[in-house]
Amino acid sequence: MIWNETKECMSRDEIRNLQGARLKKMVSRVYHNVEFYRKKMQEMGLEPGDINSIEDIKKLPFTTKSDLRDSYPFGLFAVPQSEVVRLHASSGTTGKATVVGYTRRDIENWQECVARVLAMAGIGAHDKIQVAYGYGLFTGGLGLHYGAENLGATVIPMSTGNTQKLITMMEDFGATAIACTPSYLLHIAETLEEAGRLDKIQLKAAICGAEPWTDNMRNEIETKLNLKAYDIYGLSEIMGPGVAADCEYHRGLHVYEDHFVPEIINPETLEPCKEGEIGELVFTTITKEALPLFRYRTRDLTSITYEKCECGRTHARISRFKGRSDDMLIIRGVNVFPSQVESALLEMGEVSPHYMLIVDRVNNLDVLEVQVEVEERFFSDEIKELENLTKKISHVLQSALGLAVKVKLVEPKTIQRSEGKAKRVIDRRKLV
Ligand SMILES: [Zn+2]
Repeated sequence: MIWNETKECMSRDEIRNLQGARLKKMVSRVYHNVEFYRKKMQEMGLEPGDINSIEDIKKLPFTTKSDLRDSYPFGLFAVPQSEVVRLHASSGTTGKATVVGYTRRDIENWQECVARVLAMAGIGAHDKIQVAYGYGLFTGGLGLHYGAENLGATVIPMSTGNTQKLITMMEDFGATAIACTPSYLLHIAETLEEAGRLDKIQLKAAICGAEPWTDNMRNEIETKLNLKAYDIYGLSEIMGPGVAADCEYHRGLHVYEDHFVPEIINPETLEPCKEGEIGELVFTTITKEALPLFRYRTRDLTSITYEKCECGRTHARISRFKGRSDDMLIIRGVNVFPSQVESALLEMGEVSPHYMLIVDRVNNLDVLEVQVEVEERFFSDEIKELENLTKKISHVLQSALGLAVKVKLVEPKTIQRSEGKAKRVIDRRKLV
């Protein structure tokens, strides 16, 4: 189903012409309204008149998360405060929050992008969608909420915090769709399974995002809950959820290129990567009014393809995320992403996707321990079975990561569940 053919099925030339025209206007507006960018452009000897087509995007300076922090709270805003109708903020693990703002037009564009995501997942006016992302300063809850309303669906604003209530309402209201993090959805599935209530629910689609997940995890969710699960991507700096999402073919996430221009760069050299090559995802917003950003470095690692998708949409697709360049663990010189562990575990089929990576430094040597939950029966008197499984998992992880791994099997529910982003890594090396 295509919700907006004129916007999502343009030819490559039409997309590039539209992006070029929007970029040119945006650069001129930003140059005159944002001192930070004006100074940067002047330092580079760049004037608004130098930006005339989408090719010229490469001339523009990059923007980083610390640029946003340094301009806390409103230093990069391009409109007077009277035109800002909403603020969101993301809490940084270090230092100050990153504050983002929206004009009325920004909110309209945002809700249209999210509505397109939902339509791509087959959701429409007849659906009832539970939004189980956090509401508040985090963009997840309100982002999905406004998008679903814009589409005409019935929104049930659950937020997070009460799984029992969520499940009761899911049953009683006959919810047909849910939006939450994939790890939380798996937790909901387990809770339903334990209560023997899986057959009482009518969910047909799930919109999952805010943390990286794998195709295997999607299969697990789809099988357990008998629904179709879709991937939604976004970041508050660029807009919030709805910057990109996948269609029913799941061959990468379509980027809404009429609003955001994606580039993939080598994070070391900052040079552009070839189509299909993995690098850091960079976005330039071309319609944002309150907080337009040039070439924002997301730290997310992915690759891009401009090939037309089987679904008919022509917007570029980014592959499922390989992790974040700042979430990436370097252990004895090997790059390790939690998603690789998840993928390998799920492929084995004998263990649940609840796991934790613990990195420690022992005698100046980095050691990776992976804790994995396994069924209770493995902890019965047959110690041999537990040993065999431990060996098997160590072997699987070692070949997946190219690194020796210490495996510790733990009983069900040992690893802490999360209603937001799942915590997968404890890096003790930083504590020393
Ligand atoms: Zn598609």
